[in-house]
Amino acid sequence: MRAEARIDTGAIERNCARLAALAPLCAVVKADGYGHGAVEAARAAQRGGASWLAVATAGEAAELRAAGLGGPILVMGALSAEELDVALRAGADVVAWREAFVRAVAARAEALGGGTLGAGAPPAGGVAGGGALGGGPAPPGGATSPRGVGVHVKLDTGMGRLGTRDPDEATRVAEAVTATPGLRLAGAMTHFATADDDPDFMREQLARFLPWADGLHTLRHAANSAAALGEPDARLDMIRCGIAIYGMDPFHEDPADHGLEPALELVSYVAEVKQARKGDSVGYGRRFIAERDTWIGTIPVGYGDGFRRGLTGEFEVLVGGRRAKGVGTVSMDNITVDLGDAPVEPGTEAVLIGARGEHRILAEDLAAVLATINYEITCGISRRVPRRYT
Ligand SMILES: *Cc1c(COP(=O)(O)O)cnc(C)c1O
Repeated sequence: MRAEARIDTGAIERNCARLAALAPLCAVVKADGYGHGAVEAARAAQRGGASWLAVATAGEAAELRAAGLGGPILVMGALSAEELDVALRAGADVVAWREAFVRAVAARAEALGGGTLGAGAPPAGGVAGGGALGGGPAPPGGATSPRGVGVHVKLDTGMGRLGTRDPDEATRVAEAVTATPGLRLAGAMTHFATADDDPDFMREQLARFLPWADGLHTLRHAANSAAALGEPDARLDMIRCGIAIYGMDPFHEDPADHGLEPALELVSYVAEVKQARKGDSVGYGRRFIAERDTWIGTIPVGYGDGFRRGLTGEFEVLVGGRRAKGVGTVSMDNITVDLGDAPVEPGTEAVLIGARGEHRILAEDLAAVLATINYEITCGISRRVPRRYT
């Protein structure tokens, strides 16, 4: 084993159970489950009580169906014409905010086989494991009919990306959905811009959303992880949680504060141990020069694995259960750590993200160094790193 991401699916399951106790849970498994693996994350989420799954793209919905996942799936992102067909064949729900798009959904649904489409229905053309489709839990209240393509209407209450800002237009879109055979109004949604750091603006968004959504008498959903944990009033009929199901903290602090368990460890090993004499340099650009004799360990992981070069000089690794400071430039395939006076045997475990004994390195810690967020750390672990599930 050179390097692997170990995913504790039990942790995802427990995080989901904790969230599902707050409100019906839609588990967000876009971007390959935030780097954890979408299919395995989705299965664990369903075991933990998630009643819906959500993804960003049509291809992601198709991947889940191909793996045999049942139950309702919401594709939250914008859909090109080609993607719309993929989403409909996957029997996924889609998001609309323009009447023209509603007409396109109706036309393509009709072309692709009308009544066989819809939440949990077998996709036209069939897929491996299709027998399991529809076997998932039923959607929480609000679905007006079990058949037809589910459409969720999106009001832009302040994110400024997708959705219409005009509640009247959003209502017209919802009415068009209801009036169109083969479609059914499955939800009313919005998305918060500041649930993690500006609760006042989140509440303004909620105040714009509620009068509109209440009038539609459908499933109302707005909260991401930060809102679900931080603002009970935002939970409504369903919460859409991503980051928290993986045990990362939506507030960029300590996941344990919210009873969340990190599900991912990034683990490698010390491939080479050698002494650097005082004055010897290590790595590209000679950015580390030993000030005294010391032992250097080389770990065969680098930015090619998603361990970003910006971490140079600013990271630690748990080597054999103790902290070792990263030295020298992070390169594509290797990093180097200073073991001081205590060399380890080649082959010793090196933990880049994870906990050993009293020591812990969180995705949040790496994110802080890189001036980014935990989401980007696990999403950035590249395909070169195999995922292993426990
Ligand atoms: C990604 C996403 C979520 C989940 O957000 P988290 O902060 O990861 O919980 C919810 N809703 C929408 C529309 C999203 O794009």
